[in-house]
Amino acid sequence: MKLIVQKYGGTSVRDAERVMNVARRITDTYKAGNNVIVAVSAQGDTTDDLIAKAAEINPHASKREMDMLLSTGEQISIALLAMAIEKLGYPVISLTGWQAGFHTNARYTNARIKNIDTERLHAELDRRRIVIVAGFQGINKYDDITTLGRGGSDTSAVALAAALHADVCEIYTDVDGVYTADPRICKGAYKLDEISYDEMLELASLGANVLHNRSVEMAKKYNVKLSVRSSLNNNEGTYVKEVSQVEKMLVRGVTRDNDCARIALCGVEDTPGKAFQVFGLLAGANICVDLIIQSIGDGKTKDITFTVAESDMDAALELIEKNNDVIKAREIKSKKEVSKVSIVGAGMVNNPGVAAGMFEALRDAHVNINMIATSEIKVSVLVDQKDAERAVNAIHDKFLSK
Ligand code: ASP
Ligand code: MG
Repeated sequence: MKLIVQKYGGTSVRDAERVMNVARRITDTYKAGNNVIVAVSAQGDTTDDLIAKAAEINPHASKREMDMLLSTGEQISIALLAMAIEKLGYPVISLTGWQAGFHTNARYTNARIKNIDTERLHAELDRRRIVIVAGFQGINKYDDITTLGRGGSDTSAVALAAALHADVCEIYTDVDGVYTADPRICKGAYKLDEISYDEMLELASLGANVLHNRSVEMAKKYNVKLSVRSSLNNNEGTYVKEVSQVEKMLVRGVTRDNDCARIALCGVEDTPGKAFQVFGLLAGANICVDLIIQSIGDGKTKDITFTVAESDMDAALELIEKNNDVIKAREIKSKKEVSKVSIVGAGMVNNPGVAAGMFEALRDAHVNINMIATSEIKVSVLVDQKDAERAVNAIHDKFLSK
């Protein structure tokens, strides 16, 4: 008998009709002779609505109380889904995160799973029940409810699959799988049949909104075979796994991330320790820095430019201005209307010229490049936000047109 873990996202269970549709998919899998565990998200925009409700009352609510509130979204889904399966006449039980044994660290609103105590899950499976588990939540050492960060139910599902050694973890969503680019902005984008963990991890981190990046990290670590597919049809989705060499595409995907802002410190004194001053300060305030460039300097001054998430820009600027008597930048500039456009592909490791090809496509599309960063399997450029869509299309045409 196989054990299949399925995860259904918020759009897949957004109303009664969709819940019944999901119930049928689950019972079909069960009927075929499999054990089934399902992790489920909150319905539709429930989590956003709950956040808005909280803000109405107290925009500075404690994270503990936020988790108490946000975890209710998934609790609604599991009960409704279990009721739908009861209606179809199958044995089922719904479990909250803590009933299902999810132990996390104490970081409210962004907790990490430490372990899953699988006793209850095994007991329910042994009774041949379908088990519906609330995604996105667990319990910490103080017996408080925690949540795993936005999009965290993917990680719940992969954690279940890893802990129970499931045969496959199927992530059901409202798109057919992982695409070469966002089909809403790129005409030529198409679905990939498979992708490696490393590539998926880069895509997820670079703004492809299909999977929570921690879920991919965990799937790689525990070798969980993931399948990303639609809950609305029976199309084959995309497999995320350790891909063989056979299909090593040079470039497998192009992403765009609008959630970045650029800060430039011009005319900084060219002495040792400046980068540490700047980035030490930001790290101390828990601000993540993404792209960084420093000009070579002329012995007197140099420029340091970097990007942060848009929501961190004001805090970063304030911090730097406050400390500019030590940093001594002549001028501090910032801009929010920038986007990061990236290409990802495991095949670029041993192939020179991929970055050059990307820059050529950008030149042909008259897109100016602000910043460049590369790693083994990705190249990112920062461009003006108004150019980003054109950039994605030009790069996609160059490397991925069929
Ligand atoms: N409901 C949570 C969110 O909206 C978790 C999830 O959907 O994965 O972020
Ligand atoms: Mg999601």
